[in-house]
Amino acid sequence: MTRCAITKIDSYDEDKLLSAIRLIAENTAFPDVKGKIVLVKPNVLSDSYPEKAITTHPAVVKAMIAILFERGAGKVIAGDSPGMQTGRFNPQASGIAKVVEETGAVLVDFRESTRIHDINGLKIPMATAIDIADVVISIAKFKTHQLMSATGAVKYMFGLVPGLQKSPLHLRARTPESFARLILGIFNEAHVDYALIDAITAMEGAGPANGQPRHVGLLMGSESALALDKAEAEIMGYSTVPIISEAEKAMPGCTDAEYPLLNPHDLAIKDYKRIPDGRKTTLRTLFIPNLLSRIGIQTDGRAYPEFLHDKCRHCMKCINVCPAKAIEMRRGKVHIAKRKCIRCYCCHEMCPFDAIKVK
Ligand code: SF4
Ligand code: SF4
Repeated sequence: MTRCAITKIDSYDEDKLLSAIRLIAENTAFPDVKGKIVLVKPNVLSDSYPEKAITTHPAVVKAMIAILFERGAGKVIAGDSPGMQTGRFNPQASGIAKVVEETGAVLVDFRESTRIHDINGLKIPMATAIDIADVVISIAKFKTHQLMSATGAVKYMFGLVPGLQKSPLHLRARTPESFARLILGIFNEAHVDYALIDAITAMEGAGPANGQPRHVGLLMGSESALALDKAEAEIMGYSTVPIISEAEKAMPGCTDAEYPLLNPHDLAIKDYKRIPDGRKTTLRTLFIPNLLSRIGIQTDGRAYPEFLHDKCRHCMKCINVCPAKAIEMRRGKVHIAKRKCIRCYCCHEMCPFDAIKVK
């Protein structure tokens, strides 16, 4: 039976992190890394300061790399690709580049993509790093997500698709359920061997980029990223989230696990600020909403983004990332054409000034 190990930890102190990761590894099926090339993928959605809880905390990345070398890893490579990446990504503010360098690991450029993957009938480029690595380790952040309700060890594998090449994929999967199926396809291609979630300082509210940090005080690990994400959703107080429900439909039992340390059921946070479920239709688990959305008919009650003009600094990021070309600058103000908007919330995710709200 798959195991998920969850332990309490109150800070990012180096010694406490090393002890917590060793405890988690001992209580789960940690992969054999001896002499192998190991890819660690933190969540670096944008190069933000660790206190904002947008990225995996660098201290967790540092401790995991130290443990990989302690267990005999031959080489450790690390990387991620934010949605707006155009040039080489060198995440300084987040502290990720610094810890990678300090530990003797190597930061790899996820723009390098030598293989196109056939996923759900789509041709999708993915970072060459997954082909180089013998072992893939996800080091995610415990966060809410406007489209997917939560992002943990599976959703952020979308970062394996280089930079802006992610954006048009939203046009091919317009509902949370169809997008979840696409993400599961990408996740399956990545062959993740082990997943850790940094839930020490988590994010609640308008995640994954504009929510509020919240101390949760947990570190979680498992050989199954899906089982780990199910535990995360339960702690957040969701009955399910699209990634988990779609995974369970496709592979019944894939999120089942035993919990040798703490049980997520006992850790559920009643007042965690979750993403409200605005969807009304009973057809939401079928393909029909996705098809209707392609001809501009929305069959669910999900909200459209709203632009806060007083906060907008005209950086153009929302315009550049919008896959539906639904945003433009008119007389110095951002304007959204709702009939074009597919409510992917990429604009909300990429706005660096919290000038976009989704109610
Ligand atoms: S991303 Fe935010 S700040 Fe930049 S133009 Fe759009 S709304 Fe304005
Ligand atoms: S306006 Fe925002 S939510 Fe709508 S399609 Fe564009 S990026 Fe997605």
